[in-house]
Amino acid sequence: MMLFGCRRRLWCALSFLGAAAGCRLGSAYLATSTLHFQQEADFRKSKLVAQKNMQIKLLPALTDNYMYLLIDEETKEAAIVDPVQPQKVVDAVKKHGVNLTSVLTTHHHWDHAGGNEKLVKMMSGLKVYGGDSRVGALTQRVSHLSTFQVGSLHVKCLYTPCHTSGHICYYVTKPNSSEPPAIFTGDTLLWLDVASSLRGQQKKCTKL
Ligand SMILES: [Zn+2]
Repeated sequence: MMLFGCRRRLWCALSFLGAAAGCRLGSAYLATSTLHFQQEADFRKSKLVAQKNMQIKLLPALTDNYMYLLIDEETKEAAIVDPVQPQKVVDAVKKHGVNLTSVLTTHHHWDHAGGNEKLVKMMSGLKVYGGDSRVGALTQRVSHLSTFQVGSLHVKCLYTPCHTSGHICYYVTKPNSSEPPAIFTGDTLLWLDVASSLRGQQKKCTKL
């Protein structure tokens, strides 16, 4: 599985978890380490993670974060995850020649959702997904296990109220494909293993 989240929190979490956690997270940890355990000087570059069915463009944002442009290779339909810097998103959409239809918002904090209002003014017709009424420009309120499509890609919403009470992770798969899925985790830490974060333990660390 490919795991994409806030760089600050992933770095801390994975540094803490170390090799033992790598075993428990399995392929998710390996994919993450490939993306995030790299030289600091190399961190701010844009990167492209490509599979046959989906591409994910990592767009540096602010001083230490990423936005993610998710592209369905079959239809060239795309979604952007947490577009805090809208102009960079518009530029990337033009560069890759894709049809941006959706905004996937992990949570309402300004460094993730702060660009929503501006982006919907720059690009009309966007569906803005989120699990919290505080998400700017929200059009599609989702909850745990809500599903929707981005082109031919299937997106499942996972309610993860650790970091904020309305946090959503987005789990993306290509039906009938053997390629690994992707998950966009925002500011959610995946402590110990992925499953434990989905069994309610997160309520112990909820902060608003
Ligand atoms: Zn946050």
